[in-house]
Amino acid sequence: MVKREKSLQGGSNMKIDGILNSVREGKLLDRQEAVSLLNINNISDDFYKLISLANEMTRSEFNNKGFVFAQIGLNAEPCSVNCKFCSMGKGHYAMDGIWKKDIDAVVSEAKTLIDSGIHDLFLMTTADYPIEEFMDVARHVRKILPGGVRFVANIGDFDYDTALKLKEIGFTGAYHIKRLREGINTGAKPETRIKTLNAIKKAGLELYYCVEPIGPEHTYEEMADEMLRAREYNVGVMAVMRRIPVKGTPLYKKGQISPLELSKIAAVARLVTRPHRAMNVHEPVQMSLICGVNQLYAEVGANPRDDVSNTEKSRGFTVEAVRQMLEDAGYELNGFPV
Ligand code: SF4
Repeated sequence: MVKREKSLQGGSNMKIDGILNSVREGKLLDRQEAVSLLNINNISDDFYKLISLANEMTRSEFNNKGFVFAQIGLNAEPCSVNCKFCSMGKGHYAMDGIWKKDIDAVVSEAKTLIDSGIHDLFLMTTADYPIEEFMDVARHVRKILPGGVRFVANIGDFDYDTALKLKEIGFTGAYHIKRLREGINTGAKPETRIKTLNAIKKAGLELYYCVEPIGPEHTYEEMADEMLRAREYNVGVMAVMRRIPVKGTPLYKKGQISPLELSKIAAVARLVTRPHRAMNVHEPVQMSLICGVNQLYAEVGANPRDDVSNTEKSRGFTVEAVRQMLEDAGYELNGFPV
C-alpha cells in the first residue's frame, strides 16, 4: 500500500498556488508538478483550489456542455490477456455466464441507446474477439447511427491496417490505453499497447484515453505518467477510472480508492492533460462533476468491473441516470432527441 501524504495544509501553500497559476497562464505542467497536485490532501484548502480551477476550466473551455457516452459489451467470455482486475480473465473467470451477443441484439441495444440520447457509442469486446466478426457487427450498427453520434471501438490490440479498416467502416475513434502496471497485472505488453495507440493516431481515428484501473496501491508518479502520455497524444476526451474490486479476481483484496480521491485525480488529469472536448470519470461519481468532469458513461452488456454479465442489471448506469447526474450538476445537454 502506498503511503499518501496525510498532513493537513493550513492556509495557503505557495507551491500549489504557483502550479495552479501556471495552469491559468496556459503553461503545461511537468511530471513533478502533476505529482505535487496529486499529493494535495483531500481535506485541505488546496483541494478546493484545485477542484475550483478544474471546474472553472471545464465550464468555460467546454461551454458548460455535458456529454453522455454509452458502451455495449459485446461478449462475456474468458479472455487470454487475463488482467488481474477483470471479471473475464481466463484464469479466474468470475462472470455469471458466457455468451456472445448476435448482430440483431447489438443493433437493437444500440438503437435503444441512441433513442435515449447519447453523444458517442462504444462497442467493446474482450481481446480475443475475432476482428472480422467485430467489423461485421460494427457495419450493421453503423447503418443505424445518426451522423452526429461518434462511433468508438474498444477492443484488443491491432495494427495500422486494422485501424484503417475501422475508419473505413465508420468508426470515428478508438478507446485504447496503456493500463497501470501493464504487463505486470495484465498479460499484454506495454510496447504492444503503445504500437496500437500510434496506429490509432496515424489512421486519423480519435484516441480516447484513461488512467486506469486506479487502485490504492498505485503511486502518483504512475498516474502522472499516463496523464502526460495522453497529452502527448493530444486527446480530446480524457478519463480516470478506479478499479472496482470484483470478487474472485486476483486484485480483489487490494480494495478501492474513495470517490473523493477519484474526483481529485480527475481534477488533476483535467489540468495536466488539457483535453479539448471532455473529461470523464468512471464509474460515475456525482462529486466529480464539480471537479472538472463533464462526461459520463452508460453501460450495457459485459463489463470487466462486474460479475453480472448484463451490467445494465447491476453496476451499469443507464443513459437516463447519467444524464440526470450531469443536469443536476448544471451541465447543458443539447442535441438530445428526447
Ligand atoms: S480487461 Fe480486457 S483485455 Fe483484460 S482480461 Fe478483461 S477483457 Fe481481457
